[in-house]
Amino acid sequence: MSTPEGRLRILIVEDEESYREALQAGLSKEGYEVELAADGLEGLKQFAARPPDLVLLDVLLPGMHGTEVCRRMREIAPVPVIMVSALDSEVDIVLGLELGAADYVTKPYRLRELTARIQAVLRRVSPPPSLPATGARPVPVSPTEIVVAGPVQVDFARREVSLAGRTVHLSRREFDLLALLLAPPGQVRTRDELIDLLWSGRDLADTRTLDTHIRRLRVKLESDPADPRFLVTVRGVGFRFDTDGRGRPDRTGS
Ligand code: CA
Repeated sequence: MSTPEGRLRILIVEDEESYREALQAGLSKEGYEVELAADGLEGLKQFAARPPDLVLLDVLLPGMHGTEVCRRMREIAPVPVIMVSALDSEVDIVLGLELGAADYVTKPYRLRELTARIQAVLRRVSPPPSLPATGARPVPVSPTEIVVAGPVQVDFARREVSLAGRTVHLSRREFDLLALLLAPPGQVRTRDELIDLLWSGRDLADTRTLDTHIRRLRVKLESDPADPRFLVTVRGVGFRFDTDGRGRPDRTGS
């Protein structure tokens, strides 16, 4: 995977030119061979053609979302991926989706901090030859956060959800949808955003699929699914998870 000169190759998927240029200059100086892609599809293409030693992947990318790019890369080759996000709330999403990212950093970051993370991840995936081979797999980040929203408690590390203290069993998609609505609670997520994040690039996903999952979540979490107090519809926009459970009629709808 590394170059004939033994330099490690890092693929940077980043749509902001200023970041791309700064990273290329900074990481080349650190002795890495740097490859650049300006969007997710281009990044995937380069990744598949010649898997690098490590990927720096921006979360918010035009076209295909970074979370989906990460998922697909992980299907192609076990290369460690460091996710780069501009918002703390995105970190929750990234962690909640269990993409298998090796680490994440939040913008703005210092180059020194980033190279330290890169070195740590590379050390983790390529232990010295004396170590047993079982240590060679990337270790996914374990989020420790527990979010409490009204009667609902979500343990992201265990992917466990409880309602008023009782365990609720959710499918993977239902959990991911709930995680998105709780990052942070109360924030409106548009239909497009949810569909894009959960089913990006898959033809069968449409607004009906989303509605089905919303309905299932309501059946599992609401005392009256037909008149939801927590998982409320924001008419004409999308959905929101209210922690106060008043299910107040929205004023943002069209
Ligand atoms: Ca971006």
